[in-house]
Amino acid sequence: MTGLTPKVFVDFDGTITRVDVGNSFFRKFGNEEESLKAVAKWKSGELSGSGLLVKEAEYVDVSETEAREFSRSCEIDAAFAKFRSLCTDHGIEITILSDGLDFYIAEILEANGLSGIPFYSNSVRFDTRKISVELPYESGCTKCANCKGHQILMRTGPDDVVVYIGNGFSDRCAVEYADMVFAKDDLLKYCEENNITYYPYQSFDDVLAKFGKAVMSGTFRKRHRAELKRREAYLTE
Ligand SMILES: [Mg+2]
Repeated sequence: MTGLTPKVFVDFDGTITRVDVGNSFFRKFGNEEESLKAVAKWKSGELSGSGLLVKEAEYVDVSETEAREFSRSCEIDAAFAKFRSLCTDHGIEITILSDGLDFYIAEILEANGLSGIPFYSNSVRFDTRKISVELPYESGCTKCANCKGHQILMRTGPDDVVVYIGNGFSDRCAVEYADMVFAKDDLLKYCEENNITYYPYQSFDDVLAKFGKAVMSGTFRKRHRAELKRREAYLTE
């Protein structure tokens, strides 16, 4: 590979997994109606990312064993492992950034032989049939509990080309700083509305095709607006 080497950051819920595991978890073991209301408030900006998690966790009634068993039953995108192998084979770092919860990410990665991938997310402590959410990466962002934009700034330098793959509202801060964006669902709409250049995808097969070509030809380029935003942010961090 010639030229710039990318650093890849990937969302977890609905991107690596087929469904949003966090949402499914809170609907199954919490209060579905309250969860839906809280998510709507978060999407409209009435509730912060941290506020959303704390609210949803209030209603949860589950044992740690049940929660972990439920996690292991969640399926992932069939082509994700292939994408990960491509990155590993070419010495490209891949990191999962999630505004979801650590226990299900760890369980699902392990169940699929992918435990080696580093991830940064919120944490959960189990206590009898209750959970409490811990927010180790709160950064002051009002939209996110674990702001992926902040994570990218902490984990990259001026020479990196940032690749981001995501699907939802919790990826909004990340794509501002990403040079190459793969988007679907709500994130795709956000990129459209905010003039952020992106590649649409449905599964990691689509990502593999586009990203694989860039890897083979060494044609990773910085996106001017993302580079400026990162430069500004590195100066003020
Ligand atoms: Mg997602």
